[in-house]
Amino acid sequence: MTAQTTQELAEPYLRRVLGTAGLDVEYVRGHGDTLYYRKGDEEVPVLDLVGGYGSTLLGHSNPELVAYARELLAAQTPIHAQFSRHPYANDVAADLVRIIQRETGSEEPFFAIFANSGAEAIEAAMKHAEFERHVRLEQLRAAVGVSIEAVRAAVAEGSVAAAEAEALIADVTAHNEALATSPPLFLTPVGSFHGKLAASTQLTYNPIYRAVFSALAAQARFVPLDEPGAIDEIVRSESRWLHDLALEGGRPTVVQRPFPGFCAVVLEPILGEGGIHELPAAFVHDVQRVAGELDIPVVVDEVQSGMGRTGAFLASSHLGLRGDYYTLAKSLGGGIAKAAVLLVRASRYLNDFEMMHSSTFAKDSYSCLIAGRVLQMLEAGDGEIYRSAGARGAELRQALQELQREFPGVLKEVRGRGLMLGLEFCEQAHSPSPVLRQLHASGFFGYFLSGYLLREHHIRTFPTSSAVHTLRFEPSAFITTADITRLVGALRDLCTQIAGTDGHRLAPV
Ligand code: PMP
Repeated sequence: MTAQTTQELAEPYLRRVLGTAGLDVEYVRGHGDTLYYRKGDEEVPVLDLVGGYGSTLLGHSNPELVAYARELLAAQTPIHAQFSRHPYANDVAADLVRIIQRETGSEEPFFAIFANSGAEAIEAAMKHAEFERHVRLEQLRAAVGVSIEAVRAAVAEGSVAAAEAEALIADVTAHNEALATSPPLFLTPVGSFHGKLAASTQLTYNPIYRAVFSALAAQARFVPLDEPGAIDEIVRSESRWLHDLALEGGRPTVVQRPFPGFCAVVLEPILGEGGIHELPAAFVHDVQRVAGELDIPVVVDEVQSGMGRTGAFLASSHLGLRGDYYTLAKSLGGGIAKAAVLLVRASRYLNDFEMMHSSTFAKDSYSCLIAGRVLQMLEAGDGEIYRSAGARGAELRQALQELQREFPGVLKEVRGRGLMLGLEFCEQAHSPSPVLRQLHASGFFGYFLSGYLLREHHIRTFPTSSAVHTLRFEPSAFITTADITRLVGALRDLCTQIAGTDGHRLAPV
């Protein structure tokens, strides 16, 4: 049976949905910022600005990385050697720590837990934060136990009535047990995207990804970005109190202690799938303050924004945002390996976590050695790639802003930093054109724009996954001025279709 006659079984529905916007293309080769599909005997080049959703900062099939991968495989590097020494993993961790210390001006080391995907790194962060919370809760419960013993000692001495004391102890114990078994809460911005596994999807704002699975894992409270003080309000309304006992004036009395119900704040420095929104300074300030007050870790999710894409290794370093944990993935694997890592500040790190989180595939030599080479490439020439990402990004941003001034009724805003840029299109819900109104109502507006750019201009860009009016631009650091000019020409044509026609060419035939 040939592939053509076999029933389609690998996510056929998704393929059909992509087909409605003309996006169900098979790419057969990739190089730099170009992907190729086949048409008859020809290879058709497509300028790729999706960049593997942020995974190809060094381009597709980067020649240096491909040559290195070949060498590794030819040398029979043992890829699956779990539970042995992993010096290559240690090298990656040491490089990451050195870079982060340099950028954040901190001297504290971080310990590394390796993972396979961005979502797994986030789940490891959630678990480590919950482990921290568990340890604090156990300490508090032990302290309450000591208080209970003190009350019982007072009963034994005859200074407190046994019935009164035992009734209070029973109340306090029942109250505390109920609290201790209640799930923790995470805090994360409105619009966040942190993955689609069972726990991480609860930190992902889009209800399409999250709502069905809410019973599977701890919940998040989503904090609006543009309401200073909103996080304090959420913390106030969600705060719970443990009950303790004190002997006041010789009588046992219930006293309240703050219950560690919050696990962590998890946030992207630039919301990626939520539409490319950089965190406002006031929000960053609020988060750092509240996390300090609650003594919970700040988890900075740099899965998409990190690895130099914004002109610095960490996008958070532009914002003065300091993480207790960092997650990295995507471009860490150089576009040819699946690699992810969670870094935990030494002062918060719990050794036992190493017995609690692992995967058959994580921390393998292949992905670590590739990640190590990626870091070397980023750091080479005193950070030439970072400078290039910053400069190329500024050039692209400026070109998009000029276009926005040309089409103010079509283009709403240009956002982002470096090579993590978003272009938001105006809503078409009230367009005079029925075609544009219908494309808007489909919920896939940006995908139709992407389909048009692909069909007519051989340019690949996608909307951000939870904000479909924003097209994303995340090319490699090697994007050229000619590529940018070509993109802007294509976008100008797209805007003209929206502004000057009824938009019928945006709907695929
Ligand atoms: N965090 C962020 C910020 C992301 O952008 C993504 C993926 N878009 C993830 C986590 C999840 O990564 P992965 O797809 O590798 O699971």
